[in-house]
Amino acid sequence: MSQLSFTSGKNSFTPTYFVDVILPLPLHKLFTYRVPKSMEAEIAIGCRVVVPFGKSQILTAIIQKVHNDSPKEYVAKRIIDILEVSPSFNEVQLKFYHWIADYYLCTPGEVLQAGLPSGLKVNTTSLLQRNPYFDESDYVLSIEEQLLLHHLSVDTPIESLKIINLMGKKAYTKVLKALITKDAVLLIDHIKEKFSPKLKKCIRLEPSLISNEEALEEVFRQLEKRPKQIDVLMAYLREVPALEDLSANENGMLQEDLVKAGYSLSSINTLARNGIIEQFDKEVSRFKKNTKLIPPKKLSDKQNEANTEILTGFQSNKPVLLHGITGSGKTEIYIELILEVLASGHQVLYLLPEIALTTQIVARLEQVFGDNMGVYHSKYSANERVEVWQNLISGKINLVVGVRSSVFLPFDNLGLIIIDEEHDSSYKQYDPAPRYNARDAALMLAQMHKAKTLLGTATPSLESYQLAITNKYTLVTISERFGGSVLPQVSAIDISKALKKKKMRGNFSEELVQTIDNTLSKEEQVIIFQNRRGYAPLLSCKDCGWVPQCKHCDVSLTYHQYSSELRCHYCGYKTPSPSSCISCGSVAMQTVSFGTEQLEEELKHMFPETEIARLDLDTTKGRGSYARIIDNFGSGKIKILVGTQMVTKGLDFDNVGLVGIINLDRMLHFPDFRSVERTFQLAVQVAGRAGRKEKQGQVLIQTYNPDQEIVPVILNQDYKLFFEKEIIERKLFNYPPFSRMTKLVIKGRDHQVVSQAVNELYHITVKKMGSDMVLGPVIPSISRVRDKYLREIYLKIGRQMSISKVRQTIRACAREILIQKSYKTITIVIDVDPV
Ligand code: ADP
Ligand code: ZN
Ligand code: ZN
Repeated sequence: MSQLSFTSGKNSFTPTYFVDVILPLPLHKLFTYRVPKSMEAEIAIGCRVVVPFGKSQILTAIIQKVHNDSPKEYVAKRIIDILEVSPSFNEVQLKFYHWIADYYLCTPGEVLQAGLPSGLKVNTTSLLQRNPYFDESDYVLSIEEQLLLHHLSVDTPIESLKIINLMGKKAYTKVLKALITKDAVLLIDHIKEKFSPKLKKCIRLEPSLISNEEALEEVFRQLEKRPKQIDVLMAYLREVPALEDLSANENGMLQEDLVKAGYSLSSINTLARNGIIEQFDKEVSRFKKNTKLIPPKKLSDKQNEANTEILTGFQSNKPVLLHGITGSGKTEIYIELILEVLASGHQVLYLLPEIALTTQIVARLEQVFGDNMGVYHSKYSANERVEVWQNLISGKINLVVGVRSSVFLPFDNLGLIIIDEEHDSSYKQYDPAPRYNARDAALMLAQMHKAKTLLGTATPSLESYQLAITNKYTLVTISERFGGSVLPQVSAIDISKALKKKKMRGNFSEELVQTIDNTLSKEEQVIIFQNRRGYAPLLSCKDCGWVPQCKHCDVSLTYHQYSSELRCHYCGYKTPSPSSCISCGSVAMQTVSFGTEQLEEELKHMFPETEIARLDLDTTKGRGSYARIIDNFGSGKIKILVGTQMVTKGLDFDNVGLVGIINLDRMLHFPDFRSVERTFQLAVQVAGRAGRKEKQGQVLIQTYNPDQEIVPVILNQDYKLFFEKEIIERKLFNYPPFSRMTKLVIKGRDHQVVSQAVNELYHITVKKMGSDMVLGPVIPSISRVRDKYLREIYLKIGRQMSISKVRQTIRACAREILIQKSYKTITIVIDVDPV
């Protein structure tokens, strides 16, 4: 007996199918829909379906579960359509989405929104048509109703958008509703898949000519006086072994390839008209890769050693942290590992922090992996992203190189995840939810697939290194550069001294300017680095560079212009801004802010003959712009490159003689407990761009205070020493990795309501969790965003506490605020593990 039919007495009937779906909305629960009989055969977990939602929405949803239980609280609506025969999502992937939703306190629908490329969502445009059975004389219609009806016909539906444009959305909705209750109009939802495959025109020989040699000879005889057409046929037969291989002819060749090679398009068209060749459309990839594959490089002894250690580490099923200095050749080790995992039939995910990084590394990986590799990042078009998604499902590609959102791809057989530059904060998404960290999520994803994880970097995050030295990760270290090239020579320039001696030109010390000049005259290039966060409003002494600190938090105080106060970003401590420097007594207190643009201006002024370019968020908005700047720097056309964080990332140039860091203090004093860590990382990464291959590079760091403790640590690029110092601070203040942080952000338009809500939330959290765990409430340095006031509370959650219990408590605290009527305009954002 079939499992699916029930027999009761004389009547036998098959049960109705229902599906629970994830909707792309911030809803915590799944919704149940009924499956129409005609679609029963096709439903499967992970399929995309089109469903109605609410009064008028049509959404793309994902089937999570198939069952026979009709929902108790509501009457299930029907699925409108199933979009695919084979599912776009698999079960491990959906399980992973739910894990993200749980851990980062958001909804599966929000994870779906982030995961599903927009090209896999459907477009809906409603069509309107007059009901042919509607008789106007039965009703009294308002003038507007008559007007709308007047635009509709009984046989050709028209787009609702046209009517909306005519009468405005509000009137349209009202009138349409009235007409629908009178059965006067029919509303047809027209659903269109957004993804459209790319088609290209191909040609092939008319199939009947292949099996019939005489006919083919006859064709050539007839064309004797048409040499151009004969040329086309001959060229085709040279390219495609049509006569020996029927399927080769079936596949044909791209028409444009012949045209590009100089064959006449009109001859091709004539041949097609006369039935000698056939023209047809073929789906082609949007990624054209004509790269010639080249075998991987032979690893050096050091690289081989590291490779062996990594493989040994994998055997113990722990993640491996590869700490290899800049230029140690980590990429080549990754390549070796990827080759091995692909050969074993598994998939590989190679995560990179930002698009900025991809250009050079992608080019290198493409040389080895060619078409077996897909690249996934936000600057690719919707259609291109869908192609990667589908190629992964079909098995056309087994390696994906991508930014954080590639953790959402439909992997079903992962063997290895590489997290390159694992310390990078752009792995964390802040807005919108899911506020996930792709590095941490990838560790979970790997676990779900029983895959290996490799975290690689020259400057491990404190969190990862702590896990490594406590044996939760296997640590593998490479401490020499590939080919024996030497690390650059790093030294500091004291700009408070330079100021006193009037040896500053704008933001540049004369020593730095002189060295830039020398470097250029040796035909070498220069990189000037300025931290993106250089804009944080800080108060600092013009003479000695002193920056006021919080008594309780070990961070710099932020300057608030309106109240003329200094405040702590973490604990809320505030103090009137001092009129003179506590350190040296000078009254020259200033709020400084300058960015890369100003540096570029100054450089252009000092080096008018030199080609200078700027690399930051502003100059790299367009799709190809990043690559263009990098290419021009790589080719030597650009001599000086001024930039933010972007210049610190994995770039590999041969001819950079000098790297200048404009202001170390600005980074160190950024109001964040991670500022020392970030500074060390940035300094080491940017220094790593100097002097590769044979030449030793030079790095100059401008600072107001070369005597501060961290400076020699940075000058020596001594990671271990940095770690030992910094971990003590973290422990002292119970910051991560010793605690887990969660940030609650309260937003609202009414200043007073926001203040009240945050105070109340503070008391609720203290009551539920204890005052040790709760910091705040504080006013963030940017305290108003898009007309909404922001307040923050930080929770420092002990490592020993159960995550799920803490999650429940946090949710409960937020709910206590959100259910109150007076706070209905408030939103609370929960940011787990903020960075
Ligand atoms: P990292 O990522 O560790 O900073 P890279 O992978 O960029 O270092 O390697 C630094 C340089 O050394 C690159 O130019 C790379 O091509 C070269 N290189 C690394 N390993 C090898 C190898 N085994 N054979 C030849 N060149 C190598
Ligand atoms: Zn503080
Ligand atoms: Zn001072």
